[in-house]
Amino acid sequence: YGNAGGAVMALFAVLLAWGVSRRIEGPEREIAEGIRKGQFIAYYQPVIDISNGNLLGCEALVRWRKADGTIISPAGFIALAEKSGQIYDITRSVMKRGREDLERVYEGRPELKLSFNLIAGHFASFDVINDVSTVFADSRIRMNQLVFEVTEREELPNIARARVVIARLQELGAQVALDDVGTGHGGLSYLLKLGVDQMKIDKMFVDAIGTDRYSTAIIDSLVRLASEMSMDLVAEGVETQEQVEYLRAKGVRAAQGYIFAPPLPAKAYAALAEAMCPLKQRGQASDAA
Ligand code: C2E
Ligand code: MG
Ligand code: MG
Ligand code: MG
Repeated sequence: YGNAGGAVMALFAVLLAWGVSRRIEGPEREIAEGIRKGQFIAYYQPVIDISNGNLLGCEALVRWRKADGTIISPAGFIALAEKSGQIYDITRSVMKRGREDLERVYEGRPELKLSFNLIAGHFASFDVINDVSTVFADSRIRMNQLVFEVTEREELPNIARARVVIARLQELGAQVALDDVGTGHGGLSYLLKLGVDQMKIDKMFVDAIGTDRYSTAIIDSLVRLASEMSMDLVAEGVETQEQVEYLRAKGVRAAQGYIFAPPLPAKAYAALAEAMCPLKQRGQASDAA
């Protein structure tokens, strides 16, 4: 009878493992197929200078475009892709897309920036330096037009290493931004240690403008900190004119949000950039293509 109990337990364990693996492998396999078929594309959300209305550039935001045309947002796959490690392939796809989609319009418009989101894991090895160099070395988008964002939400596993990866990206000419500032565990000393060029104020604080004194006090202190440390500030998730006016009055220069534009398909963003920014120099012959 004892043996039978053991056999039942073993069978139960096998069935449990099978069930779990099926649940994990299904979507993971689908993501792998999506990567192979080039289904991970980027949308581009404009970043606006609210002191004068100029376009400063954009943030590339990944989208999964399924074979039937359905567009899936990052919330639907990023967490799983991080767990499986597929996020690194996806990130490379997004960078390549960024280059292909925007190099024609970014050439001759050196003031325009292009931001990419990275995860904490990217700052634990030097692979990302290779990826960036490989994708952008001979590109008509210059390294100094690139910004790499790291979210404050996730803890960096190795701060000292992250600091070196950030410094390498900066040596290539790129800037590094701390994303979702105010949501993390980070704190001030964290920021100082990382040596980033830019901070992005999380939407949560922008939402609270005019309603919550505590949150607006945080914006005020970020403005002071950014100016002390000569870092750029970008406000995220700006949706109302009241928010724009508050931020402008506080001296925040850059903002992105639905009040200006949602993340746009490549063609729409490229057309916007062409319309908003005069060419600084003549492009190459390939511009005619
Ligand atoms: P994030 O980097 O903080 O990007 C801002 C998010 O806020 C985007 O959501 C954007 O569409 C949304 N947003 C912008 N303005 C507004 C607004 O006015 N109102 C509202 N309600 N939302 C606004 P999205 O595209 O769904 O991306 C969500 C998150 O997924 C990003 O947050 C980022 O953490 C992550 N993500 C996106 N693309 C990538 C990527 O290529 N790689 C990695 N590792 N993460 C990515
Ligand atoms: Mg971001
Ligand atoms: Mg953010
Ligand atoms: Mg953002």
